[in-house]
Amino acid sequence: MNGTIKVAVAGASGRMGREVVKMVLDDPELRLAAAVDNSSNPIDAGMMAGMGPCGVMMSNSLEQALLETKPDVLVDFTTPKSVVGNTKLAIQYGVRPVIGTTGFTPADIVELDKLCQEAGIGGLIAPNFSIGAILMMKFAAQAAKYMPHVEIIEFHGDQKLDAPSGTSVKTAELIAANRRELRQGNPEEEETIEGSRGGYYNGFRIHSVRLPGVFAQQEVIFGGHGQTLKIRHDSYERAGYMPGVNLAVKKVMTYQGMVYGFEHFID
Ligand code: NAP
Repeated sequence: MNGTIKVAVAGASGRMGREVVKMVLDDPELRLAAAVDNSSNPIDAGMMAGMGPCGVMMSNSLEQALLETKPDVLVDFTTPKSVVGNTKLAIQYGVRPVIGTTGFTPADIVELDKLCQEAGIGGLIAPNFSIGAILMMKFAAQAAKYMPHVEIIEFHGDQKLDAPSGTSVKTAELIAANRRELRQGNPEEEETIEGSRGGYYNGFRIHSVRLPGVFAQQEVIFGGHGQTLKIRHDSYERAGYMPGVNLAVKKVMTYQGMVYGFEHFID
């Protein structure tokens, strides 16, 4: 698409949302149409994000913002509780959703794809916008063909709401698609402390570590005869996701239906 893409941001004063506001204001091909947050005061969105004033006031009604500013794309970094409703609202107004918030169920994704198809627009749900994380997932899926015994350990800050992380679920799905279901470990194993073996997915385990001081890391560990293989990705700051969000905002204009996973936007 030629010209400027109008972008609305939901969760604009959150930690990710602020980075999105900055990224949009910094790119001449994008225009900030609206910045929405639950508990925002009517201040300038540029000032809120630590930049100069941009002329867009923060608002607290997504529906009103979509109706009044008619954006092309909605970028959502809110909460698992509100994201499904926000996404449906965007589709209802013909606005393409680019969703970074995690916590969708497979049924949500099927329903949202149907809604996008009916509205004739594209959308993206991306549990991880980081290129390094996408490569970790792709390499893990590849390794699972040859080393089917695997466990995932993901590390996030202690205030994260959902577990396991959307990235680990996506990694697990890609691994499961590349190996037969294989119930790992000793069939007679017993947990003496409930949950100590982690969450069960398609025969393997996902462990969620939640600690202050941690940002976002994931390790996928494969075990074979006399060897292990570890594929690890570390994210250090939120700005690292923005090149991915920028690419997604531009590419979503050319898609139809709801795409799940940023890897589909990367050739
Ligand atoms: P955060 O700092 O808590 O920000 C969330 C913001 O959304 C808050 O300011 C919250 O406002 C606002 N909000 C909640 N419901 C809303 C609604 N209905 N409409 C508008 N705004 C709403 O969280 P964060 O660290 O930015 O993370 C946000 C999400 O992104 C999480 O699900 C996280 O897992 C995910 N994430 C994804 C990626 C990725 O690459 N895909 C990377 C990092 C994080 P109040 O606090 O006032 O309610």
